[in-house]
Amino acid sequence: MIGPNAIKLAVFGQPVAHSLSPRIHRLFGEQLEIDVDYDAVESAIDELPDRLAAFRNQGGTGANLTVPLKHAGLKLCASVDRPARQAHAVNTLKLATDGWHGYNTDGAGLLLDLERLGIDPAGRRVLVLGAGGAVAGILGPLLERAPAYVRIGNRTAERAERLADKFAHRGEIDGGGFESVAGSRFDLLIQSTSAGHASNLPPLQRDWLTDRAIAYDLNYGPAHQPFAQWCRDNEVDVHGGLGMLVGQAALAFEIWTGERPEMAPVLSTLRED
Ligand code: NDP
Repeated sequence: MIGPNAIKLAVFGQPVAHSLSPRIHRLFGEQLEIDVDYDAVESAIDELPDRLAAFRNQGGTGANLTVPLKHAGLKLCASVDRPARQAHAVNTLKLATDGWHGYNTDGAGLLLDLERLGIDPAGRRVLVLGAGGAVAGILGPLLERAPAYVRIGNRTAERAERLADKFAHRGEIDGGGFESVAGSRFDLLIQSTSAGHASNLPPLQRDWLTDRAIAYDLNYGPAHQPFAQWCRDNEVDVHGGLGMLVGQAALAFEIWTGERPEMAPVLSTLRED
């Protein structure tokens, strides 16, 4: 039962009906005994200003933005945090007296999950495949953990080059097409392309990785399966991105309520579903 004093929250996206966010945030609320009323609101990019205004009028004080709204959300914020500014994308909004404050918890959510898994990027050679919005969000928090070197490999070389240039002052980082990865070996692979959504894979080579390399796929569920299969076939330890999803949500919940929920029980519940 949602009480009259529940914190009113929602995720906006398109499509959003299958989003796990409502379930995750309700579980966080139960865990911390905080009454939350969390909806999913379908919104196209050009509808977002009106949808968000209506939500605010109904008492909404916090929101998540997902595909394709993370970039469009920036313009609606009175202020944004550094990760959101660097990623050109917001995934979390919190209402303040001067309007919406925007945050990007995706990168920190990934790092939280890597920590949970006991994977420390410090001193590692990290290969990031993909150069989309998610990678723009994870590079800042990743470079803060002082990896020895980061190489971005992407289908469209210029996107990887541009991102590497943008973050070059934060650490040792290069970017290029997938072919530019050959000749080096990496001990942590972060698979950040969306190829799995179409049951595809980037053109992976086992010899890009050291024998004991670990892989992390931002994708989870069916979109994770092609990469998971490649890792099994090539004897690479792999983790899917459900933990990152829960991690970014835990950080958003903390922004709204001041309290950070435990990830592990929520992950267990989602895996049982
Ligand atoms: P974008 O659409 O911004 O970027 C997609 C990336 O995938 C681009 O680099 C694109 O390359 C590449 N790509 C797409 N199809 C192929 C293919 N067939 N072969 C090789 N490369 C391909 O997506 P995001 O960066 O926002 O998200 C990336 C993935 O991460 C998505 O699958 C998303 O679901 C997942 N994600 C998971 C999160 C979590 O919490 N677990 C959070 C955020 C994202 P090109 O530049 O050449 O087009």
